[in-house]
Amino acid sequence: MDANTLPLPLRELVERLAALPGLGPKSALRIALTMLKWPRERADALGQAVLDLREKLCFCRRCLSIAEQSPCPLCADPGRERDQLCLVGEWDSLLALEAGGFYRGQYMVLGGLIAPLDGVDAASLDFAALKARLAEGEVRELILALGTTTEAEATASYVKNLLAREFPDIGLTRLAQGIPLGSEVKYVDRETLRQSLLWRQKI
Ligand SMILES: [Zn+2]
Repeated sequence: MDANTLPLPLRELVERLAALPGLGPKSALRIALTMLKWPRERADALGQAVLDLREKLCFCRRCLSIAEQSPCPLCADPGRERDQLCLVGEWDSLLALEAGGFYRGQYMVLGGLIAPLDGVDAASLDFAALKARLAEGEVRELILALGTTTEAEATASYVKNLLAREFPDIGLTRLAQGIPLGSEVKYVDRETLRQSLLWRQKI
């Protein structure tokens, strides 16, 4: 269907929805038509929820995650270890780690990863905030939870150099790379096997 044949207000909404991750024009139209059938209050509530995202949320000034207040509950929690800082690229990685409930240290959200091909260099990311945090002197171990993509490797190597240069006393670790739980060696790709052998552990 040609979107230009839609009445303007509907086209406007469909185009905005279709620009969201994971949604194409067809599902955008289906959602827009569903919304059209909603009672007024339900549509108002959705619009208000979108506005509240901007008005009621902020960035925590300590960990740079999204929160209702700064410092966020994680940073303000006196029960968490102060000497471990886990560096993640985006906030959703923090959520994934936090959902496990097994990490009790601090976090810092970098706001992306170094991606030279996409024009994202170190200056585009918040390394200044990371440096300021490390300079406070509480952190003894920086844990990289950046993933294993080329961008993650570029970022990890930048952080490694930064620490060696400016914070040589802070330990640098990264999440282990290896065979996922429940998988068989014969199905694991060669690079993962190589990493698994490299980072093999005593049992
Ligand atoms: Zn925080």
